[in-house]
Amino acid sequence: MNIIEYARSLSDICGVADFMQNREELVEVYGEDICKYPYAIAIGHKMLEEIIETIPLTYNDDELAKKYLDEYYDSHKRVSAISQKIVKFIRNAGFDAIELDVSGTAPELNLKVPFSNKASANLAGIGWLGKNNLLTTEEFGPRLSWSTILTNAPLSEYAGKSMESLCGDCTICVNACPGKAIVDLPDPKESYSPQKCGEFIMGRKEEGRPLACGMCLYICPYGNRKTRTLLK
Ligand code: SF4
Ligand code: SF4
Repeated sequence: MNIIEYARSLSDICGVADFMQNREELVEVYGEDICKYPYAIAIGHKMLEEIIETIPLTYNDDELAKKYLDEYYDSHKRVSAISQKIVKFIRNAGFDAIELDVSGTAPELNLKVPFSNKASANLAGIGWLGKNNLLTTEEFGPRLSWSTILTNAPLSEYAGKSMESLCGDCTICVNACPGKAIVDLPDPKESYSPQKCGEFIMGRKEEGRPLACGMCLYICPYGNRKTRTLLK
């Protein structure tokens, strides 16, 4: 089994980004260390479907909200464990590899800001940043946790190209967001307001509720069978 076959066997979706093709922008944002190795393997791991499907109920049910939050963090641990196995596999094959976990950091790297795992998945051509600013895939929508493996293993034949947004005219997350934090603009830097999202979630805390929302993750038609029929 080769490296990519092994990565595919452990992840729900994965892809390879050739960082040398995007070196200038990456170094400007993250610093030289992000291009220590030429390739990034983006690893996507699905959050539990049965928990995600309860999100609309979590606004009035604190137990379900806590379960969703637990799954959110557990999925981060699981994707990190998967990545560590792949790192070990790559090293056993005689190459170097470093895991950037959900925090976007690694002890071996001195980055200007934590790396966004969304960037490696997008550059690998397996997802796009939706209007909700979540990395969205055609198959699972945004219902995934991500990590990235940097490596010098020769993976050029697997490298994808940056993926364009497939949001199009969809406004489902715009209309569903209870914090009015998403507007209908194509660029997620303009469509998604982290401030308004944060204010909504903190407002829930002030009401004595768990710090959970996730409606934009639940409702996206690329991951939601019920709303998928609304995609044009
Ligand atoms: S987490 Fe909630 S408040 Fe924040 S953008 Fe998503 S739907 Fe809106
Ligand atoms: S719900 Fe629609 S607009 Fe929002 S991220 Fe998903 S596809 Fe894009």
